[in-house]
Amino acid sequence: MNRNVRLILVPVVLLLASAAFGQQRESSPVEFQRISDRLFQIAGGRGAQGGVYIGDNAVLVIDAKMDEASVKQVIEGIGKLTDKPIKYLVNTHSDGDHIAGNRYFPKTVTFIAHENCRQEFFLPGRNGAPSPWSTPELAPFVPSVTFTDRMDLYLGSQHVELRYFGVGHTTGDTVVYLPEEKTAFIGDQIFLTRTQLIHSYKGGNSFEHVKTLSKMLDTLEAERFCSGHSDMADRSQVANHIEQMKQQQAKVKALMEQGKSVAEIQSQFDQGQSRLIESVYNEVKSGSAQ
Ligand SMILES: [Zn+2]
Repeated sequence: MNRNVRLILVPVVLLLASAAFGQQRESSPVEFQRISDRLFQIAGGRGAQGGVYIGDNAVLVIDAKMDEASVKQVIEGIGKLTDKPIKYLVNTHSDGDHIAGNRYFPKTVTFIAHENCRQEFFLPGRNGAPSPWSTPELAPFVPSVTFTDRMDLYLGSQHVELRYFGVGHTTGDTVVYLPEEKTAFIGDQIFLTRTQLIHSYKGGNSFEHVKTLSKMLDTLEAERFCSGHSDMADRSQVANHIEQMKQQQAKVKALMEQGKSVAEIQSQFDQGQSRLIESVYNEVKSGSAQ
């Protein structure tokens, strides 16, 4: 091995080692971010950001983290805020980082999701592995209450709206809207610093996604949007996200009209956008880009 090659290899090995270490790293502690006396975003731990809403007589949790230690911290944290029982847990969609922790909540909790989300619980993984949710041990933690368009929950005098605006990131993304706080928990329907994930293998669709998000903005008077993996956003940030996706879709379409292959098109975007660009390409090709 000549000297130049060795000099290049050392940093590469260090990078690989730090990447492997990063994956084993302890997750940050669960953190409750106050929105109002009743409403908190739950960040940290393993799994996506979610939330908790404390009603007059019961507590609603939004999304479930993904391991026992994180759920324990969530339950302990709620116990410090209130002695009211956790009555409902809404899964905003079927991704593991939002649902895997269901199993560590008490069986007395009622799990709620959109009907399509419940069905996605039983889909094989992207790698074809069978869903763990079909086993009897996990059956009590699969959503037992579903809705298709809208559901209203009343925690005493507090009102919570569960809304469905259409296909997008998956086929069953729920928006949990707290009208008093003008705050919407929208799961993974926006990513502000990373590329939007669209789960084609679950039936997600990027063109439907922009329509679904536009409908949400038009329908709700929300001023604050809490999501799984980004900082809280305002209306203009959601509108920008929609606009950016439209521009990406238009660019893919234009390049396809020039006869470019998917790899050629991907090379004109950042590498991190490859999967999204492939989804957009496939949607245009299959005619599901309306
Ligand atoms: Zn997520």
